[in-house]
Amino acid sequence: MPFPTALPALSDNYIWTLAEAGADAIIVDPGEAEPVLAAMRQGLRPRAILVTHHHHDHTDAVATLAERCGATVYAPDDARIAGEFVPVREGDRIEMAGLDLRVMEVPGHTRSHVAYIGEGLAFTGDTLFSLGCGRLFEGTPAQMFDSLERLAALPPETRVCCAHEYTLANASFALTVEPGNPALAERAAQARAARAAGLPTLPISMDSERKTNPFLRCREPRLAARVAEYAGCDPADAVAVFTALRRWKDGFAG
Ligand code: ZN
Ligand code: FE
Repeated sequence: MPFPTALPALSDNYIWTLAEAGADAIIVDPGEAEPVLAAMRQGLRPRAILVTHHHHDHTDAVATLAERCGATVYAPDDARIAGEFVPVREGDRIEMAGLDLRVMEVPGHTRSHVAYIGEGLAFTGDTLFSLGCGRLFEGTPAQMFDSLERLAALPPETRVCCAHEYTLANASFALTVEPGNPALAERAAQARAARAAGLPTLPISMDSERKTNPFLRCREPRLAARVAEYAGCDPADAVAVFTALRRWKDGFAG
């Protein structure tokens, strides 16, 4: 199985690269050119550029890099994404550089956000973060909840490749919500050690996320009761719990 590499970019973005054999690669969400150009100087040959959503920190270097390496760009069909690209929709397959990925529409952070799934990986952009999820800029809480549930239903061994290094900040909120979750305490300690060593906290397995990410745990009775106690929502209504949890996090100072 090809192993994904996270190229740090901007303040806390990751540009993911994935190569099956040799140096032919796909890259995901290049918001900055230089990290990719540096990898290209080491032999990386991007054949495809995948875009999860239109935000500039995911797209600013797409046109520059596409021209430099002749890569095909795949992106959701959204007029806010500049340049030439192949528009993708739910279920589309991208076979490139010996890799096989499919498109999953995951609206919520933005209305046209997609994830790319395959090779045991999930490139989740700003939809699913480790121990957190994206802010709701355009979608409804119900849409985001549904998108996250579909991602969480991927095989447990799926390795999640998020577009930002937010794990430690997310951990402090997650621990506030679920202070008694041992898997979460363990993940937070592991993430602290990784960051102290200058390493990414990603990828992380979906199995770990299901056990630790509060936004994937809205059906857990203890978490639901805690959120209901905080927000006064119905603990049996998972979408209401998710909505309250997302709002709680929006106002959380850490
Ligand atoms: Zn975004
Ligand atoms: Fe972003």
